[in-house]
Amino acid sequence: MSVDSSSLGPSLRLSSRMAGVRSSAIRDLLTFTARPEVISLAGGLPAVELVPRGRIAQAARRALGDPHSVQYGETSGWAPLRETVASRESEAVGRRVAPAEVVVTHGSQQALSLLAQVLLDPGDTVVVEEPGYTGALQVFRAAQAAVVPVALDANGMDTAVLEQALREGLRPKVVHTVSNFHNPRGVVLSAQRREHLASLADRYGFWIIEDDPYGELWFDAPPPAPVATHSDRVLRLSSGSKTVAPALRIGWLHGDRRVCEAVELLKQGADLCGSSLTQRIATELLDDRTWLDSHLAAIRGAYSARSHALVGALESVFGERISHTPVFGGMFCWIEFADGCDATSLLARAIEHDVAYVPGGAFGVADAHSHAARLCFATYGGEVLVEGVNRLRQAYDAHIRT
Ligand code: PMP
Repeated sequence: MSVDSSSLGPSLRLSSRMAGVRSSAIRDLLTFTARPEVISLAGGLPAVELVPRGRIAQAARRALGDPHSVQYGETSGWAPLRETVASRESEAVGRRVAPAEVVVTHGSQQALSLLAQVLLDPGDTVVVEEPGYTGALQVFRAAQAAVVPVALDANGMDTAVLEQALREGLRPKVVHTVSNFHNPRGVVLSAQRREHLASLADRYGFWIIEDDPYGELWFDAPPPAPVATHSDRVLRLSSGSKTVAPALRIGWLHGDRRVCEAVELLKQGADLCGSSLTQRIATELLDDRTWLDSHLAAIRGAYSARSHALVGALESVFGERISHTPVFGGMFCWIEFADGCDATSLLARAIEHDVAYVPGGAFGVADAHSHAARLCFATYGGEVLVEGVNRLRQAYDAHIRT
């Protein structure tokens, strides 16, 4: 979907920036899959039954006892939450992070959008992963950046390919990476590539946006230390959306304090401030380490079991017809149809069979990934996932017969 300027009515005169902005295919799909009978493996929706509503209600009641919880607050975030985030980030990167190096945002998506506006002029080059996070592509296109894809493999972004392009003269201002449990591919950027990427940023002077909402959703072992451990040129984004609740809309940026100041300036005009209420709720939950550890353990256990159910069903129902990336954490499984079946045309048939996914093409810049798809295993329990795969097989059989 894009804005239709041809219909009758007053002339629209939208900015030139809107010419490059397309609706996210995933957000569009969500409207088709809202029918309750559809098993939607399309949206990256965390399991709603694992969202700690009781604990949130308790924290909300406590927060509401403070009248400031219903008042406007600081643009860069409620001070105790910035401190909490700074101390979590200090642990993650192994050095002291000051609250001035943190901005709390309306989900990490807002941080991404503000960063693009702060850092990019029209025509500036941004490197993204191929396939990549559609929300990042939207933001960089709206900033009128020249988006250059770099391929991903089982170890994340291929930094050797990036280095070669840099040697040949590519000069990105920003490189965007989803380092942990990639959306959509599910892969983890290897420790060696993290160091390599950081060294390239230092050598060629670009910013890395390390977009990390999934890092805590590991199954058997945590991922390697963040890219931010290896360079000051990393702007790290994370979020409470996948660990606590997306509806709190709590995300954050950690990085160079001058960039944080610039983001804060723009944020003043974007939203004045985030929600004083949900920031207090998030602070209480993130500070309650004992509770948080057991909550994260429950999510990891459930998602791990769900990923096994999905992958097991794919293997037994599709056999050699489908290959998939191994799943070590996060919420996504990336599949490829061995016979080159076009995932976009299969989708129409799948929706008739009450199952949905996102075709790989939605994530591509240069490569159409036409025979690939992203399946989310987080939203449903194992039995529903198995039923979803059975429906997908029926749709696939019907599709290849036509
Ligand atoms: N980055 C990535 C890679 C994501 O997958 C998402 C959510 N789907 C976000 C950022 C934004 O999440 P939020 O705004 O809820 O923090």
